[in-house]
Amino acid sequence: MFKALILNQQDNKTLAQVGDVDNNQLPDGDVTVAVEFSSLNYKDGLAITGAGKIIRQFPMVPGIDFSGTVQTSTDSRYQPGDKVVLTGWGVGENHWGGMAELARVKADWLVPLPANLTCEQTMVIGTAGLTAMLCVQALEDAGLTPDSGEILVTGASGGVGSVAVTLLAKLGYRVAAVTGRASQNGELLKQLGATTIVERSELEEAAKPLEKQRWAGAIDTVGSKMLAKVLSQLDYNGVVAACGLAGGFDLPTTVMPFILRNVRLQGVDSVYCPYEKRQQAWQRLSELLPASFYQQAGQTVTLEQVPELAQAIIQGQVTGRTLVKLS
Ligand code: NDP
Repeated sequence: MFKALILNQQDNKTLAQVGDVDNNQLPDGDVTVAVEFSSLNYKDGLAITGAGKIIRQFPMVPGIDFSGTVQTSTDSRYQPGDKVVLTGWGVGENHWGGMAELARVKADWLVPLPANLTCEQTMVIGTAGLTAMLCVQALEDAGLTPDSGEILVTGASGGVGSVAVTLLAKLGYRVAAVTGRASQNGELLKQLGATTIVERSELEEAAKPLEKQRWAGAIDTVGSKMLAKVLSQLDYNGVVAACGLAGGFDLPTTVMPFILRNVRLQGVDSVYCPYEKRQQAWQRLSELLPASFYQQAGQTVTLEQVPELAQAIIQGQVTGRTLVKLS
């Protein structure tokens, strides 16, 4: 038997309860992992409270991210005792996830823990950090270098944005951070390495098809009007890595930046990112993030505390990372 947070549905409502589960109820998979840490993301909040239609089959164990130690494996790439990390692949959505003492998954979904990271540190990074690294890699793949010019990061004090600022600064880029909370977070963003703070309101007005060229590249976590504005302000040959929709999923833009300034819009997905790229991103995260990154404000909670925190996270009452300790 092992302990898990189990989601069930009753009268169209999602019920979340901690309980014991028989090992033979684990889903199919090649590798069984003794989970050490999971983390509570906004998406987990939506799933656990039922506020978002994330889960379609019940019972379900939530937890889109986890890290831990391989207990058994039928795949030659993993042996008992190996440390592993998992993010994405629909785990915690349509395959039992990390908010349990045991998880069984496909070997293809796992990444060996980079040598200098602990399970706890990988969960401080989580899906948000991995996505930020993939965005940075997308800019590099498009040919940007620190000499290209200033890079804009939108939603900069969020999970993805704050790691993106940290990584770009560490790589030597000049970083402009867009935030709606400059008075609260401006100093922190500068400590992370931002050279310029841009007020969110500056980028919220409707974009003209082409505006003054300001940015060599951008990492956009906001979408909608802000992404349209960023596109209209990119330098000739500029590129934006777009990964989020914090401001909306629409994109009220024109073809002008693309056909007159050779601008590129590169989408970034972390959930189904292929293994090689994912493994490389984890390796680089382990090398680039400073020790201070892991000391950021946050909390570590038990499985029993998760349902209450899930409510809080969807009401915007949680700041920093929330780790869930399983063993
Ligand atoms: P957070 O909620 O932590 O951060 C989003 C930030 O965006 C906020 O902190 C805020 O920053 C800013 N923001 C919020 N609302 C608005 C708004 N209406 N207009 C403009 N700015 C706004 O989320 P994450 O960083 O975890 O995720 C960012 C986005 O990326 C989300 O949409 C998420 O769904 C997506 N995502 C995508 C992934 C992928 O694989 N493609 C993986 C992970 C996340 P500030 O206060 O500084 O303005």
